[in-house]
Amino acid sequence: MEILKNYNLSKLNTFGINATAKFFVEVTSEKDLEELFILPEFKNNKKMFLGGGSNVLFTTDFDGMVVKISLLWKKTIEENDESVILEVGAGESWHDLVTYVVNNNWGGIENLAFIPGTVGAAPVQNIAAYGENFSDAFESLDAFNVETGEIEKFDKVRCDFHYRNSVFKKELKGKYIILRVRIKLFKNPKIEDSYYQIGIVRDSIKEELQKIATTPFSIKDVYQAVVNIRKRKLPQVYSVGSFFLNSIVSQEKYQELKNKVPELQCYPPDQVFYKKLDDPFLQKEDFVKVATGRLLEVLGWLGKWEGNVGIHDRHALVVVTNGKATGKEILNFVESVQKSYFDNYGITLEIEVNLI
Ligand SMILES: Cc1cc2nc3c(=O)[nH]c(=O)nc-3n(C[C@H](O)[C@H](O)[C@H](O)COP(=O)(O)OP(=O)(O)OC[C@H]3O[C@@H](n4cnc5c(N)ncnc54)[C@H](O)[C@@H]3O)c2cc1C
Repeated sequence: MEILKNYNLSKLNTFGINATAKFFVEVTSEKDLEELFILPEFKNNKKMFLGGGSNVLFTTDFDGMVVKISLLWKKTIEENDESVILEVGAGESWHDLVTYVVNNNWGGIENLAFIPGTVGAAPVQNIAAYGENFSDAFESLDAFNVETGEIEKFDKVRCDFHYRNSVFKKELKGKYIILRVRIKLFKNPKIEDSYYQIGIVRDSIKEELQKIATTPFSIKDVYQAVVNIRKRKLPQVYSVGSFFLNSIVSQEKYQELKNKVPELQCYPPDQVFYKKLDDPFLQKEDFVKVATGRLLEVLGWLGKWEGNVGIHDRHALVVVTNGKATGKEILNFVESVQKSYFDNYGITLEIEVNLI
């Protein structure tokens, strides 16, 4: 383990921002972490933990220590006729894990194929796609408390998962390094193919499945359908995927928005998705998630650029750059989008990405 100074991070974040870290270290074992814990560079500096850099925005150089988590392993720790529990090192690639699981014909995370980043970051924002949440498969995780040096176990309740959120993005932000994650997969799973994408791209898993496979669909078919859809529609550009969150508004506000944008959809109308998250706030009948992409599109943001930064021409939630933008330029652009959203709809446009 080597502590590097003034380390350039441009290859370690998907926006390609040319920021530097005062100190940089790559941790490849839990022993590395124990050694790091007692070093003054770690103790006396602010810290940031980095996986694949696909959900961070470096707004400036980082005046502290960036710790890249490269803990790589996976093992089966429990198995019976119905299910398997896997324990996976935080540095493993999320998509490679999904591929491994699907190749074993285990179900539970196939809809989350092709999401960039690492296993350790998946709980941080409770990654989700096509009706499946990471938290659905989650069993528990172990994390290193950076104040005490102790390893602590987190169950689902302690993680406090929400829509693109968890305790690690809120009150415990920067306080724990996630080391290993345990997920439960099923040998005879129910296939979740009912999700219909809202917004400009009306692709659905069901339609794709009908194109590429015959019934009864297998987990591998669903995985392939998701990979095909994402390859087609995901921007192969400098981005962090969705930069903005869909807004969650009251039914009353939704009706008001519909007066401005009559075809505005809310998702999901039956709230099933939120009920699965055990989120008391979102279970309230009168709150819905609206298609914020459509609201931005109506304001003319789709495909709009200012200098090195723009909005993707097919996905209004996705901020893109030409690879030359600084963090500040991206922030300025994002603030203009947020202002226009608030001025027109009276609601705050919240961001999904982690600002550093
Ligand atoms: C093209 C594209 C498509 C995307 N699609 C989706 C999608 O469909 N659904 C979705 O949910 N997300 C999506 N994302 C966002 C992103 O892939 C996820 O948030 C992913 O989990 C980030 O992983 P990462 O390893 O790159 O995290 P990083 O960007 O490195 O870190 C993200 C946050 O997690 C923290 N963190 C990372 N590792 C650890 C650790 N071991 N311990 C503690 N904290 C840690 C970081 O400090 C940071 O705050 C997309 C991104 C891109 C670029």
